[in-house]
Amino acid sequence: MKRKHVLITGSSRGIGRACALAFAQAGYHVFINCRSSLDRLDETEAEILSLGGTCTKLPGDVGDADSVRSMFRTISAQCEGLDVLVNNAGLAYFGLLTDMTDEDWDAILRTNLSSAFYCCREAVPYMVSRKQGRIINISSMWGTAGASCEAAYSAAKSGLNGLTKALAKELAPSNVQVNAVACGAIDTEMNARLDAEERQALEEEIPAGRFGTVQEAARLVLALAEGPSYLTGQIIGMDGGMI
Ligand code: NAD
Repeated sequence: MKRKHVLITGSSRGIGRACALAFAQAGYHVFINCRSSLDRLDETEAEILSLGGTCTKLPGDVGDADSVRSMFRTISAQCEGLDVLVNNAGLAYFGLLTDMTDEDWDAILRTNLSSAFYCCREAVPYMVSRKQGRIINISSMWGTAGASCEAAYSAAKSGLNGLTKALAKELAPSNVQVNAVACGAIDTEMNARLDAEERQALEEEIPAGRFGTVQEAARLVLALAEGPSYLTGQIIGMDGGMI
């Protein structure tokens, strides 16, 4: 059977890396990406190879349209196109809205939202031409509920949810499915700013009583890539019952 190809943005660590390993184990060729921590991307590559998988490193800023075009030129040189796109790269900002600079706002919107637009725009034509493809956007429960001191991040993830629902309708006639995973608190370096007390307080608010693991998130993402094609346009909560 022909090997499938997936791009997972932001896969040097956290949820993206766990997705990269899960897809590699499922037999996909994985394009792995991050903007700056190239040594961490090397580690992801080494882990995939140790599992007997295959991958291509694709460093680049997915919040920059030219950089995304260049990444997709490399993809086209290696295969006809992507079977699955996972828009995972993300950036958090915690602070008062009034303290945010224009640059802070722009970085959050570019990394969490424009990146998905840039990658979808490149990936979709091949998927439509084959009448087959999956796009999975990694969103947040704060895109649904809104978080105090995370206004830009909440707005960006809310936008990502809107993009998911609208693009799902646009692409359903072409048999391309678009869904989002709205993560709650997942145990990654993105939450490193929480001290032990803050973490415990948050855990007490989560009905499941704990943070989710990156492996749990990756299992859901892979399930969406392989699941029924009638499932599209959904924002699936992965939050231990929080929302
Ligand atoms: P993380 O900070 O551990 O990893 C983020 C990844 O994105 C890294 O590989 C980083 O290098 C990459 N990245 C950041 N900016 C980039 C850019 N401009 N171009 C390319 N790569 C870039 O975060 P994580 O917790 O693994 O988060 C992954 C996704 O899940 C994000 O979209 C995040 O918003 C979302 N999410 C996480 C949580 C959580 O609690 N961890 C909750 C809700 C949603």
